[in-house]
Amino acid sequence: MDGVWNGGQTASGWLFDLYPSKGDEMTVWIISEDGRRVKFVDRYHPSIYISGGEQDLQDLVERVEIRQLTERYRFTEKYVNLADKDRSKVLEIECSHRSIRKLISRIVKLGHRRYRLNNVDVPVEQSYLFRNDIFPFAFLRVLSRGSELSYQLQDSVESEDYAVPPFRTSFLRVEVRRSGPLAGFDDPLQTVILQRGGEREVIDKGSEADKLIELANLIRRDDPDILLTEDGDSFLMPYLWRRAVVNEVADRLILGREDLSLKADQGVGSSYFSYGRVYYRAPCRRLYGRVHIDVGNSFMYPACKMDGLIEVSRTCRIPLHRATRATIGTIMMSLQLYYATKSGFLIPWRKGEPESLKTASDLMLADRGGFVFEPVVGIHENTGELDFSSLYPTLMMQKNISAETVSCQCCPDSPNRVPELNYNICQRRLGMVPSVLKLILTKRSSYKHMMAEADPEWRERYDRRQSALKWVLVTCFGYLGYRNARFGKIDAHIAVCAFAREALMKAAQIARSNGFSVLHGIVDSMWLMKDATSAEDYLALCREIRSQTELPISFEGIYRWIVFLPSKVHPNAPVLNRYYGVFRDGRVKARGIDLRRGDTCNIIREAQERMIEPLAAAEDAAAFRENLPRALEVLSRYADKIARGDVRETDLIIAKRLSKSPHDYLSRTYQAVAARQLIRAGAVISPGQTIHFLITDAGNRDPARRVRAARLLQGDTAYDRKKYLELLARSAFNILSPFYSLATIHRCVFGNPGSIQVPLQIDPLPFSSQSRPY
Ligand SMILES: [Zn+2]
Repeated sequence: MDGVWNGGQTASGWLFDLYPSKGDEMTVWIISEDGRRVKFVDRYHPSIYISGGEQDLQDLVERVEIRQLTERYRFTEKYVNLADKDRSKVLEIECSHRSIRKLISRIVKLGHRRYRLNNVDVPVEQSYLFRNDIFPFAFLRVLSRGSELSYQLQDSVESEDYAVPPFRTSFLRVEVRRSGPLAGFDDPLQTVILQRGGEREVIDKGSEADKLIELANLIRRDDPDILLTEDGDSFLMPYLWRRAVVNEVADRLILGREDLSLKADQGVGSSYFSYGRVYYRAPCRRLYGRVHIDVGNSFMYPACKMDGLIEVSRTCRIPLHRATRATIGTIMMSLQLYYATKSGFLIPWRKGEPESLKTASDLMLADRGGFVFEPVVGIHENTGELDFSSLYPTLMMQKNISAETVSCQCCPDSPNRVPELNYNICQRRLGMVPSVLKLILTKRSSYKHMMAEADPEWRERYDRRQSALKWVLVTCFGYLGYRNARFGKIDAHIAVCAFAREALMKAAQIARSNGFSVLHGIVDSMWLMKDATSAEDYLALCREIRSQTELPISFEGIYRWIVFLPSKVHPNAPVLNRYYGVFRDGRVKARGIDLRRGDTCNIIREAQERMIEPLAAAEDAAAFRENLPRALEVLSRYADKIARGDVRETDLIIAKRLSKSPHDYLSRTYQAVAARQLIRAGAVISPGQTIHFLITDAGNRDPARRVRAARLLQGDTAYDRKKYLELLARSAFNILSPFYSLATIHRCVFGNPGSIQVPLQIDPLPFSSQSRPY
């Protein structure tokens, strides 16, 4: 550690970590060019804004109980509502971040109708970044004068070839001496393992207190910037804290760069919504000056690694510590908050706003607002796939669609209209959503181009950056549409759908006029059919569609064959996104079937993949039909394995999310039963958590005996063979239903366990490949 720099000091380097410290301070950590970790302290008071009648505002600042908490105040001009044409006079109060809550409650008490509160829930770190116009990992020069800092930014969020500081990263793991089936907070610490690069430090000597102190010593010596753990938020960090308290060494368990022990920021975790699912968020313990990444509690890290995290931290101006734990919606919202702040818009306070986000296709399916050509169930040849990449964000940007621009008050006669609905779109100003999207779309498309030129290592890094940005793009649409979202408006959502429909209808028309027929279309993809055609024909078609619609469309490939599957719920209505097929270059693509699902157990996933293998070898539909019996051979081989009891426990574990709270615990779903077993064994379970279990006796009258939570298995539990055979049969029927009856599949699975011969009587159902849709 290199100590605090104060009084006329400067440093050049990367902005690494920041957090509010004492009442009116912000602590900032820089990784300097020459490799030092430097701490600076700045004086900082966040601002909140109050809008209301002028006299009411004047009365407010004169009240003693408000004055007590006010550092500084002034009247200033801001846009109060997104749709406002002009700025209004509002009151700005600067106060200590510690007093914000108190100040808010006093203002609310004085009249929540008279005073509208704004910018009160912008995280303090972010408001500091916005005010100084700097961002995480920015390369900059810091100048410290007295108690204040100033910054010279030598970097830009738009930059795509930025340098990243050379991090020191350690991985922390512990082994616990368990007394029960689960490791609990009362079990003593056995071993601590700290890994850095190829080096591995093992602490297993001395008393438990010695081990904890040794861990703190090692971390101080290694001084990592980033500490990775497997389950640090939900178990490891609170566990270490608890053991330190029990051993009376809590004040010496210092893992951060500040002289602070490992107390939790907040007492409890919370559940939150993202993409329509409930997730569990563990409470967080900060390592001030370092960043702890719990690989299991991060959405971004597993998918995009540090490259993706740094990219969204920079672009969306959200500190790494928060970005690793946040939902994509929160990450994207940070960029909107920045944009609003910069453009003089106030950010209305929304108490307990749910973050219920959906992807574009979820929303499309929910309200059928999107473009849909339903597919003909069965196998098809000579089929090619075209995808509009980032169709929705691109339309929002091109057509200037945002909550405040659709049906704006200022331009009722705007020539920019929404198709079918004839809503007007603002022609005077660029909306907030389009401004945000422009940055992300531009960067993403640059990374994709840069990938083509780069060496393998950089290609992978650019790929992680672009895929992190892709996630952010996906949520923009959800934010725009969600009724309660801070900057959302349902009209804007409907407008995007209308433009998307128009674009795809037009693309379909162009395809038809070039001799293609449209087999299937959904949201932003189309499957076309044309006999004896080549990739060149498709590429030419893409060029024509691109020039006529001005939208990016790409050619995915021509399938040797593709099978569109029927809906499981309504056998007669094809569901929109269930298919599998093989491209001419041998790539298999599958959507909406078991092997793509996160809750499918290994043995079923493997069986389905192996069943598709002989089919994937088929060059055309005729060969596919010839190979169908081989898929059934695979099926009976797996049935045989399951029936013999020959499958490892780990391959039978099913993972399901607990969706509701707390009633879900009372229900008899497998995951609820397993969750109750875990709670009885001392585990802390929250809604949204994924529960892993083995089915032991699905038919048992006592629900508690139907499954066993995976964490409680001892390696000798028998599984329910019949139930797993049923699951196997269902997964086989899911992909083969256009060709075989359920009875045939059942015969194959249950008919003759022990034999691996092909069942004799298999009559494929009639094919539907001669269809002429649309
Ligand atoms: Zn307008």
